Amino acid sequence: MSSTPSPSPHLAVFPGSFDPLTNGHVDIIERGCYIFDRVIVAVLINEAKTPLFTIKERVEIIREVFTGTPNVEVDTFDGLLVDYGRRKGADAIIRGLRAMSDFEYEFQMALMNRRLNHDIETVFLMPAEQYTYTSSRLIKEVFMLGGEVSGLVPDVVEDRLRNKQAILRDRLSGIRNANA
Ligand code: ADP
Repeated sequence: MSSTPSPSPHLAVFPGSFDPLTNGHVDIIERGCYIFDRVIVAVLINEAKTPLFTIKERVEIIREVFTGTPNVEVDTFDGLLVDYGRRKGADAIIRGLRAMSDFEYEFQMALMNRRLNHDIETVFLMPAEQYTYTSSRLIKEVFMLGGEVSGLVPDVVEDRLRNKQAILRDRLSGIRNANA
């Protein structure tokens, strides 16, 4: 009787800024875990952006949320995503698609990444409907203006946003002064 070779484990990289992690990201990571054996959440080191959370804080948050989920790893990267993926031996890149507005940029990026590396396939996953309007940017804006974000981010993110209130207040007054 011929035995079927067991398939090699499949690894996906989920790259992003995660400034901060939202429940939309969490939803995509969990869906990724159904499809792939391992998911690496890869936080992009991008000095050009002015993030609210440091890279270290963003990594800590994701690690805390996924403690007890051994197939989720957290890492950082800079440079070309496909080069990072190749170094890690990734089979796929996961990206989340919320709405048509995400599509054009994501489509271009996926085709460019395919051109750069044919061995890594981009896979798009849709979050649950309640997260289709959630983005890290919107969460920060709503929180800065005193709005309620519970249910849209993990509890640890809400706590950490409270600790960032002074920075957010400064940013808000900077925006108001610029518009005065
Ligand atoms: P980037 O700067 O790479 O867009 P983000 O942290 O904003 O970094 O997003 C990382 C990935 O997560 C992207 O594929 C983005 O489309 C996806 N994503 C962000 N928010 C959501 C959400 N609410 N639902 C599904 N996917 C999301």
